[in-house]
Amino acid sequence: MGLPVAHFECQTWEILLRLSFLTDVATPVDVRVPFHSLQSVKIHLESQDIEYVIMIEDLQVMLDEEQQEMESAARIAEPRNTDSFDFSRYHTISEIYSFQDMLVAENPNLVSKIVIGQSYEGRPLNVLKFSTGGTNRPAIWLDTGIHSREWVTQASGTWFAKKIVTDYGRDPAITAILNKMDIFLEIVTNPDGYYYTHNSNRMWRKTRKPNSGSNCVGVDPNRNWDAGFGGAGASNNPCSETYHGPRAHSESEVKSIVDFVKSHGNFKAFVSIHSYSQMLLYPYGYTRTPCKDQTELHNLAKKAITDLASLYSTSYRYGSIINTIYQASGGTIDWTYNQGIKYSYTFELRDTGRYGFILPANQIIPTARETWLALMAIMDHTSKNTY
Ligand SMILES: [Zn+2]
Repeated sequence: MGLPVAHFECQTWEILLRLSFLTDVATPVDVRVPFHSLQSVKIHLESQDIEYVIMIEDLQVMLDEEQQEMESAARIAEPRNTDSFDFSRYHTISEIYSFQDMLVAENPNLVSKIVIGQSYEGRPLNVLKFSTGGTNRPAIWLDTGIHSREWVTQASGTWFAKKIVTDYGRDPAITAILNKMDIFLEIVTNPDGYYYTHNSNRMWRKTRKPNSGSNCVGVDPNRNWDAGFGGAGASNNPCSETYHGPRAHSESEVKSIVDFVKSHGNFKAFVSIHSYSQMLLYPYGYTRTPCKDQTELHNLAKKAITDLASLYSTSYRYGSIINTIYQASGGTIDWTYNQGIKYSYTFELRDTGRYGFILPANQIIPTARETWLALMAIMDHTSKNTY
């Protein structure tokens, strides 16, 4: 069944409650409407004077095209090393996991794999550690794919991993960072969800843990952190896309990062990467109180998005979560910032809604390349301000 997408320029909670979110950040609000409901939804919107535009006439056509690309790519032999890995395609979780193992095997003095826990369904939570030595060096955290349907993020994370090993010893900036700090990268941060997007529902966002007392599955892992947990900007309805879960850190995919960050104790930057809407955000999401480093974080965000735009002129908005999007409680970087990790940022990668989560694979490498420039700005600043 086709799923047209309406793009609303304004919103009522009645609509938000009745229709599921499509966008990651939802200003304006994108909703999926089944064909059979399209007429009644249009009539309702017009009666309420709510403006809308049709963004995608038939989401199913885009999903089918993406699926065809995946299948034709799958007919090509498995890459034997990371040089022959096709970064311009979307990959399954097993392909990404084997990529990680190949990268470790090829670069034993630079890359190792740490398993920080298990997902609800028992998949390993793999983190790549890039380190040139030392003991418990100050560190930078990067994660992609905590929302499973945001495929360009896991694909970009894979590209970042290869970029780090390629540039170390060649590019002075990343070399200087790695001679002082370690980088930790979790590419598939929500592995059960990612598997589910490939095998059942391409538009799945949450974890896959069943909720007691409900037939609806999963928790929003970006509302599950102990920072304003359960406050405004998260839902207590297990069927909601922004359900915060029964308690803070209830999801093993979140708790494993919490435990790892706390036991490490020396993270200086934490960057959590989402899509879509082209934004670079810093704390807070749960409160209007500006974070104490707001000026520095704002200026660094401006530098990062300026560097990003230098490649393809991709335009980003930036600011605190609550001022740039809306109030959101229990978010990742509010928790990391409150743990004392000053350089806490969230990216929302391409695009602004033309394709949304179904970003064509030919945009993966350009997205990764431009995002890398922004990441380098953040990592370079972090390194130079770490003593
Ligand atoms: Zn997201």
